Amino acid sequence: MSTVQEIKVEKLSMKREFYHLIINGEKVESTSGATFKTYNPATGEVIAEVSKATKEDAEKAIQAARNAFDHGKWRKYPINKRSRILNKIASIMQARFNELVELEILDTGKSLHAAQGQVMQAIEDFEFYAGAIVGHRGSVNPVPGQFQNYTEKEPVGVCAQIIPWNYPLMMAAWKIAPAIAAGCSVIVKPATLTPLTAIILGEICLEAGVPEGVVNIVPGSGSEVGNYLVEHEQVDKVAFTGSTPIGKNIMARASQTLKRVTLELGGKSPNIVFEDADLDAAVDGSLFGIFYNTGQSCEARSRLYVHEDIYEEFVNKFVEKTKKLKLGNPFDKETHVGAIIDQNQVDVIDNYVKSAIEDGADILVGGKPAKIEGFEQGFWYEPTVIANVNHDMKVVNEEIFGPVVVIMKFKDEKEAIKLANDTEFGLGSAVWTKDGARATRIANQIQAGIVMVNCPFSAFPGTPFGGYKQSGFGRELCIETLDLYTETKSIISYYGSRPLNPFGL
Ligand code: NAD
Ligand code: MN
Repeated sequence: MSTVQEIKVEKLSMKREFYHLIINGEKVESTSGATFKTYNPATGEVIAEVSKATKEDAEKAIQAARNAFDHGKWRKYPINKRSRILNKIASIMQARFNELVELEILDTGKSLHAAQGQVMQAIEDFEFYAGAIVGHRGSVNPVPGQFQNYTEKEPVGVCAQIIPWNYPLMMAAWKIAPAIAAGCSVIVKPATLTPLTAIILGEICLEAGVPEGVVNIVPGSGSEVGNYLVEHEQVDKVAFTGSTPIGKNIMARASQTLKRVTLELGGKSPNIVFEDADLDAAVDGSLFGIFYNTGQSCEARSRLYVHEDIYEEFVNKFVEKTKKLKLGNPFDKETHVGAIIDQNQVDVIDNYVKSAIEDGADILVGGKPAKIEGFEQGFWYEPTVIANVNHDMKVVNEEIFGPVVVIMKFKDEKEAIKLANDTEFGLGSAVWTKDGARATRIANQIQAGIVMVNCPFSAFPGTPFGGYKQSGFGRELCIETLDLYTETKSIISYYGSRPLNPFGL
């Protein structure tokens, strides 16, 4: 109680010099006193210092979450009360919308329009689950004889939630909202590159009335804090968004305690443009599909397949528009493409582009780190279009996670499907055609969790988001996510008047 008021009274601006961990309803420093700096990728400047969680802090957070779950009141609240608090979280976020947008831009270097959309969606996620949880319930099942069966949905318990750097606030909302709606307690581990808005979201949860210990935020290293959470026997579930290799590692480690696991992993999503598509809509949608969020998106449509009859025309238009994309000040509303998260990622992207050149591909536009006036110390990469590629090339098979698209030709539906599915991933996909039956045929055959038909957008609150194949499993952002934060308990009772004596003794 006192902590909740304390934070209310402080009314600190979101932008500070120092950020704390949140454990058991309190803003605390790391036990070790360790800190790390977080940077603005657009300028390379330090934004703030952040307390760095260690194993000891993770242990404290687990005990707080455990205690809140086992002995606390959150899961016992009437659902309308939990729902009201989720709506309160949304309204506080709404009231501080501009501050959240500002902080997200500073920490990630993403463009204003991207940050605004993502903060808006994070707010809507809490509103969505505030509503969805009210209708989430068990069932009554037909059973023979004088028996009755009903089921109850019980919160799964203490959840470790591990977040990547590309959508720091939105991914935190995707995870926290359904979990606490269901009555779970969470320990959120943001990425160390982008911890700020998740910390603020934790504070907002407290301010809105989420009891102590239900939401804990522990920024720290993946290999130390992340692993500790994943292996701990008192953690019941791990929800992870990040790269496929780390996802595999987490699944293996979590198996030792048979944790519930959901994984949202990498992608290499196909974007198929047929000869009968509205060409301008397909060009604009495909451009957004890859260059949105500077291509640092798990469902970036990074493999573009264009029908041979319109290939030349499409590619010319696509390249012309790529040249028009404005890179620069992320706070400028004219900016389309923001910064890359760090120098390491710039190097990763550049090495992929170099491998394509070595493999004999053609760079139609871009192909190197970008120099932006006034942002010389930041991390930038030119939007890049690569043609003359094939499925033997690394640049076609592996996730680049940057503003780089490969374009290939196809001759018919059968070939388009074959190429689209020739990948270990299966997250997003898109098809552009005016033929509704064809769109349906493609949607039926694509091995991916999401199919966008004449549409550049991949996710709204309520739409299932998640992958096939090595893009992971489990769906977020939708009603069924609540099933992944609950266990189904089956209650069987006998209502006959004659006592049962099954052994007949
Ligand atoms: P990453 O896998 O390197 O890290 C993700 C998170 O896991 C970070 O918080 C990191 O600290 C933590 N981590 C690292 N090692 C760990 C370990 N051994 N145990 C526990 N936690 C550990 O990914 P990233 O570079 O931050 O993010 C980019 C990746 O995320 C891309 O591959 C992208 O496709 C994927 N992604 C997927 C989705 C989706 O919904 N499918 C969404 C966004 C990003
Ligand atoms: Mn940062």
